[in-house]
Amino acid sequence: MSVRIRSDLEKLPAYVAGRTVPGSVKLASNEVSAGPLPSVVEAITRAAHDVHRYPDMAATELVETLADRLEVTTDRIAVGCGSVALCQQIVQATCEPGDEVVFPWRSFEAYPILARVAGAEEVRVPLTPGHELDLEGLLAAITPATRVIFVCTPNNPTGTSLRREDLDNFLRRVPPEVVVVLDEAYREFVTDPEAPDGVELTRQRDNVVSLRTFSKAYGLAGLRVGYAVGSPEIITALRKVYIPFSVSAVAQRAAVASLSATAELERRCAEIATERTRVREALLELGYEVPASQANFVWLPLGERSAAFDAHCAENRVVVRAFAGDGVRITVGAPEENDALLKAAASFQG
Ligand code: PMP
Repeated sequence: MSVRIRSDLEKLPAYVAGRTVPGSVKLASNEVSAGPLPSVVEAITRAAHDVHRYPDMAATELVETLADRLEVTTDRIAVGCGSVALCQQIVQATCEPGDEVVFPWRSFEAYPILARVAGAEEVRVPLTPGHELDLEGLLAAITPATRVIFVCTPNNPTGTSLRREDLDNFLRRVPPEVVVVLDEAYREFVTDPEAPDGVELTRQRDNVVSLRTFSKAYGLAGLRVGYAVGSPEIITALRKVYIPFSVSAVAQRAAVASLSATAELERRCAEIATERTRVREALLELGYEVPASQANFVWLPLGERSAAFDAHCAENRVVVRAFAGDGVRITVGAPEENDALLKAAASFQG
């Protein structure tokens, strides 16, 4: 007799990770291509001496450092094993079977998986024809069963960002018992002064939680650490469903060290933003449609040509991320990596 696994898991789509192909440029996972800063490597090395001990469950030093930076009290911050774990914790903390999780689509591909694993119903709201979040559509999707709305800004994979004023108006109209998750995994790459600051919005509304990560701008994707900022009520609930010790001591110490190197990291983000403009303009020049991006990637809505573009890039030793039948997401890398991508894009005949 075989073991009994939940029958609905069979229908669950698997999370697809960007491929790593030795010898190819990887522009598939929205990582930064520059390696960790020397000061962060030093912190990791020091922390390695203590790995026979369990980490600090409360991540005290990291939470205190973040609280200081963000000018919030420590009861308004929870850390998680990557911000994806915090997305899961939010769903677990709010949804019972049959409850609804509303999110834009296309957006971060973990949302539907996390909703379904929790036994909740997924409610997808299509993007606008301009590849932006449809805030009116998200509002219209709310029912008495809605517990969570994910609002990803800048949106993965389209890169588009909301305007502060539009998000404010939206939040005013969401019932106060519904948790709004502002997924700001790419916030540090934003250059638009009109873009919202999710942490600021969490001060004004108790149902808003901002999620940020050390995986992207801070270059610590391999260490798995993110954080949530929100009302003590939400943060307490997130801590209740936290898998004990899931943020390692090494990750905690590296994150603290990164927070002391913000000037260097901001410089890196500014370089990526400059490259983002260059890559987008070059792609526009080649005739591609490219929505304006505020993240460290750009989106090519190639529809049925997406798989062919992906294959053509792979032949030219550039790994991008295709979403079949929809589009291709391309991470903005170092200048020479972007040059390789632009060369491949120029010779694509699909
Ligand atoms: N949110 C969004 C929008 C993302 O794109 C990602 C990573 N792809 C995450 C959350 C999760 O990142 P991490 O778990 O590495 O913090």
